Amino acid sequence: MSETIQERYKEVREKIDETCKRVGRDPSEVTLIAVSKTKPLSDIEKLIEINVNDFGENRPQELKEKFEAVSTPVRFHQIGHLQTNKVKYIINKAVLIHSVDSMKLALMIEKEAAKRDLHVDVLIEVNYAEEESKFGVKKEEALQLIKDISSSFRHIHIKGLMTIAPFVDDPEENRPIFKGMHELLLDIKSENIDNVDMSILSMGMTNDYIVAIEEGATMVRVGTAIFGERA
Ligand SMILES: *Cc1c(COP(=O)(O)O)cnc(C)c1O
Repeated sequence: MSETIQERYKEVREKIDETCKRVGRDPSEVTLIAVSKTKPLSDIEKLIEINVNDFGENRPQELKEKFEAVSTPVRFHQIGHLQTNKVKYIINKAVLIHSVDSMKLALMIEKEAAKRDLHVDVLIEVNYAEEESKFGVKKEEALQLIKDISSSFRHIHIKGLMTIAPFVDDPEENRPIFKGMHELLLDIKSENIDNVDMSILSMGMTNDYIVAIEEGATMVRVGTAIFGERA
């Protein structure tokens, strides 16, 4: 790994761009989210210096604190599981909530958004590999949840899907999951549901973001390769 956070960010971005070119995609289709969870504000500021605009946080309170503390406004993504009682911390701060996986959570987002007259962009989290330890709906349940949310809640815009693939030694093992997620996105898109656009596919982390991009990711969430190991 290179010396600095800035250099490592640029290296990851270059790998993304190279991968896009290799598979015939436009690099501007892929957003790199720098996952700054647990890392100090000073690390975020180093990336803001080089005009990085997208950061990912897991914990709502941490997102809120960092949002309020940064020197320049940037986009914070809520990428981790969200409990209903924490929605209020991030509702007017997160640019995108990646982890909606129930009507109960969607209802709370709707209530908090309506109170503030906001429209909130969300992704539906899919537990594609059906791992016990992970949040998200089963792939068979995604379409119904999307229909239910979009027909019930006016302040929520569904923009696509997110998944956290299993932790594996060889990222090739996750290729079928990424491919399946892309197919699921296209299937749901073909339903042309009102207020649902299915333009975002958030998948790929330090270990497997190259494969995820090869299979159609439009947002990758990379922490360790940029900021180093977390404590
Ligand atoms: C921590 C985290 C990431 C980044 O993981 P790395 O392996 O450090 O790149 C991405 N997505 C989610 C949801 C996370 O919680």
